[in-house]
Amino acid sequence: MSSIENQKITKLSGVKGMNDLLPVDAKLWDHVEKMAMGVARSYGYQLIRTPIVEHTAVFQRGIGEVTDIVEKEMYSFEDRLNGEQLTLRPEGTAAVVRAVIENNLLYDGPKRLCYIGPMFRHERPQRGRYRQFHQFGIEALGFAGPDVDAEIILMCQRLWDDLGLIGLQLEINSLGDMSERSAHRKALVEYFEKHQELLDEDSKRRLLSNPLRILDTKNPQMQSLVEKAPQLISYLGPASLEHFETLQTLLKANNVHFKINPRLVRGLDYYNSTVFEWITSQLGAQGTVAGGGRYDPLIERMGGKSAPACGWAMGIERIVELMKEQKVEEMQSNQCDVYFLHAGAHSLQIALVQAERLRSAGMDVILHASAESQVSSFKSQIKKADASGALYAVIIGEDEVLQQRAQIKDLRRSGEQQAVRLEDLLDEMINRLVSHSEN
Ligand code: ATP
Ligand code: MG
Repeated sequence: MSSIENQKITKLSGVKGMNDLLPVDAKLWDHVEKMAMGVARSYGYQLIRTPIVEHTAVFQRGIGEVTDIVEKEMYSFEDRLNGEQLTLRPEGTAAVVRAVIENNLLYDGPKRLCYIGPMFRHERPQRGRYRQFHQFGIEALGFAGPDVDAEIILMCQRLWDDLGLIGLQLEINSLGDMSERSAHRKALVEYFEKHQELLDEDSKRRLLSNPLRILDTKNPQMQSLVEKAPQLISYLGPASLEHFETLQTLLKANNVHFKINPRLVRGLDYYNSTVFEWITSQLGAQGTVAGGGRYDPLIERMGGKSAPACGWAMGIERIVELMKEQKVEEMQSNQCDVYFLHAGAHSLQIALVQAERLRSAGMDVILHASAESQVSSFKSQIKKADASGALYAVIIGEDEVLQQRAQIKDLRRSGEQQAVRLEDLLDEMINRLVSHSEN
């Protein structure tokens, strides 16, 4: 008998907190990832892919020793063959900065980058909190001004809009610079020392090593203590205040609503100045879907030439959960912006040329084609146009050929149809798509 037959065969299972992405969810994931990449591209952010494994020192130095991640959440191991200390990446920024320095990517000025992929943290698995999870993130490296802080926040807002998500709240804060933080730190330590008996074990330890982190506590018993603690914002000097105020002005000018949360410090050590989080009340305790901010000291701290930087990361699992919660997943993700109808022969030729012009302008266009050699009726073509999710149908029939015109039909809102001259079709479509996206 073979050894297999001797053994009782048990079912193998996946690692706790590390999930399979099943086909039933794959489409939604794909949709979220594509929309995120689309937003990044539209703001000039380019994709960078770093390895999943890095030297442990990358995260120790990049994230900071006294953080939840480095203290207790990293999957670290020794390479059996050469004894190197390695870690499965728990987040993207430190690795991206390592790669940027190593490949000298800032040699010709600032860079806008984005990344996507799995991250690993040894946390207690629960809804919205996993041991392997996925992030999409962006990094704007080499830019100092609050305009770029505003830009990266606007990118999030645009992504929520594109995904059809509602009710996400933006919280912002400023952590100031090093000297402002150290004045605040002194006041904070004095305050917490006065209330030693109310601190939990983690906080007692952090009182010595990194008291700011105490503000980040998730312990419900400590909330009222933390709420009354001295606020960093009252320690900001004129330059930090101006940066923070300009950011607020820019957000208001773009109709982005926000709340200032003086207790927002973020879980990683490298942040300064602006920090922010996007939060929903619809996902229970794990309500933060994205977070980020400025980390001006990081590049130098990682061994590069000093350069300012900011960025954010969002949790794809939480976004997908929220899409399901808000039932936007059933929303037809449209295959194209414009669907062309034609009557074959000469009208097909014209439709083909016009469709190419629209594509050159960046539109996604489907030109009707039928399975049979005979052209399908307009009635069946319009059904296909509707099912494609296109915002507009462009109709070029025989009459239109004679008049050198096209009919534009609004498929989603008014349902109205309007004739335009062929030479005006491109401009008209650009105007319509722009005003559609603004409303
Ligand atoms: P939290 O406070 O929820 O632990 P964090 O501050 O540790 O979040 P970041 O390191 O800022 O999170 O990561 C950015 C985003 O990645 C979070 O807002 C969240 O959406 C997602 N994320 C972080 N940890 C996990 C996890 N263990 N499982 C799923 N998503 C996560
Ligand atoms: Mg965390």
